[in-house]
Amino acid sequence: LSKQFELRDLTLVRRVELDGHRVTGVTVQDLRTGDTSFVAADMVVVAADAFRSPQLLWASGIRPKALGHYLTEHPVVISTVALDADKMGRFATEADLDAELARRALNPADPVAAVNRIPFSEPEHPFSVQVMYSETTPFPMEPGTPYSQNPWGYVNMGYGMRKHPRYEDAVTFDDNEPDYRGFPNMTIEYELTERENVEIAQATERLRRAGKALGVFVAEPRLMPNGSSLHYQGTMRMGAIDDGTSVADPWSRVWGYRNLVVGGNALIPTATAMNPTLMSVAIAVRGARKVAEELGA
Ligand SMILES: Cc1cc2nc3c(=O)[nH]c(=O)nc-3n(C[C@H](O)[C@H](O)[C@H](O)COP(=O)(O)OP(=O)(O)OC[C@H]3O[C@@H](n4cnc5c(N)ncnc54)[C@H](O)[C@@H]3O)c2cc1C
Repeated sequence: LSKQFELRDLTLVRRVELDGHRVTGVTVQDLRTGDTSFVAADMVVVAADAFRSPQLLWASGIRPKALGHYLTEHPVVISTVALDADKMGRFATEADLDAELARRALNPADPVAAVNRIPFSEPEHPFSVQVMYSETTPFPMEPGTPYSQNPWGYVNMGYGMRKHPRYEDAVTFDDNEPDYRGFPNMTIEYELTERENVEIAQATERLRRAGKALGVFVAEPRLMPNGSSLHYQGTMRMGAIDDGTSVADPWSRVWGYRNLVVGGNALIPTATAMNPTLMSVAIAVRGARKVAEELGA
């Protein structure tokens, strides 16, 4: 099997090559020498992330209507709370705290003692919450600042929310303006709408209540700038039928091309509120099984 597998480092795929609606292979460039060559293939899988995969398809002249569109990520509201001795007293004693700190001292390299999650559930809780405990301040605080040396420690609390997919939210590509690698330059248009703003306000309110129940905010709840989740998705979304609102079929094959498969977060078609990678892996496994079946592997 290893004879059939070759991993090429410092090699950029420049173009997916086509014969009509059949993919014949890819043109690659060795970034050390600048030389380009053609790699023939029965099947090509493009998984170059949710911005660069649609960019590569665009550069190759593969341009379904939905390509680059329906871009989503998660708006994130975060805060930091210093845990209050009286409030924590309802859950644990000073002796419990000392025992926990002694246990923690066995692994001082790990600054995060615990990560707890409250999962998304609709309609009561359309958010995903992450609560991370840290015994030291998660960011520098001047000595002498209130709560800078808080015996009960701190929690970083964040709410992840949905961004409902819309055609208008998109990465678009400019054929007349090359980027630093010579690909059509990207422009991102992305806006939160009333729908997201309502959920962000609800999440912020819940975060305030939860924080006050646990202690004192040393960093107030705040909405992170768009893109901060780093979980960009949807730009080659999958769909049940080829109606112009999706790029790939349910097995990750680009509509209209039997031997062109796409992978990664770009396939996720719906709004999500937290980490996308497991979902992308599940989609990829499903697509890979189909590919193996079709190639007779
Ligand atoms: C700091 C950070 C923390 C994260 N934490 C989490 C987490 O806790 N949980 C979670 O679910 N997700 C997390 N993510 C998101 C996760 O990393 C992504 O969901 C995942 O990596 C996406 O996989 P992918 O294969 O689509 O793209 P990538 O992993 O980005 O892979 C794309 C690859 O394609 C290569 N490439 C691009 N263009 C070309 C080209 N033309 N030719 C050749 N190669 C090319 C790139 O170099 C890259 O190696 C995190 C991301 C970041 C940045």
